Amino acid sequence: MAGLSPEKLAVVRERLLDRKKRLWLEVKEQLKSSIGDGYQEMLSTARDEEDQASVSLLAETNLTLLGPKRQELEAIEEALQRLDNGSYGECEACGQPIEARRLEVMPETPYCRNCMSQKEKLAKAAAR
Ligand SMILES: [Zn+2]
Repeated sequence: MAGLSPEKLAVVRERLLDRKKRLWLEVKEQLKSSIGDGYQEMLSTARDEEDQASVSLLAETNLTLLGPKRQELEAIEEALQRLDNGSYGECEACGQPIEARRLEVMPETPYCRNCMSQKEKLAKAAAR
């Protein structure tokens, strides 16, 4: 654990859950307008729309317009898992603590600033 107090972690969890709820609402609106009738059917398949199963369900629907939101939802889901298993706040790439201020701004990030900028550089290079 990267020096985060239980109080801080509780606040982070709240923020993540709140963000997740709002993202779900946005995603559902998008789904509704993009797939119309199929939407109800899909929802009945996903009983608990907040659980992991529905995240994979979304992954399977493969709607590109949901891409960024889906990625964010997945990132949030993973961050919540890290909160549960106690590895929250550690960079997934280098294992160093993620800067507290960075976590304030992006509580779902799995990487420290260094590793993230490394990855962004790589992504840019690959996009060329
Ligand atoms: Zn790192």
